[in-house]
Amino acid sequence: MQRCDYCGRSVYKNVSGTYVLCSSKCKKKHKNRIYMSDLEQKILSLMADGITVTEIDLIVEDDKFDIVSAVRRLVYFDKILFKKTRTEINLLTRIFTKRK
Ligand SMILES: [Zn+2]
Repeated sequence: MQRCDYCGRSVYKNVSGTYVLCSSKCKKKHKNRIYMSDLEQKILSLMADGITVTEIDLIVEDDKFDIVSAVRRLVYFDKILFKKTRTEINLLTRIFTKRK
């Protein structure tokens, strides 16, 4: 399954030639790599084991779409954070700092 390089969702139609991106919104946001990596670092620094994406959103206070996207990248691509369910990551998903 191909995942969007920005939001981490599965891609039905790739809108980019160079990257895998699911929408013009993600294509635009993907250009700002510094913001992407800053937000990932911010999430990692505030991360507590087993909290939900909604709780991360309340702590980090950035745009909700950007936060969920960063969490998906950290889980699906970087494999720094983990989930214990098979379902796709949404606001209710619990995220863990350790695999087990
Ligand atoms: Zn996307």
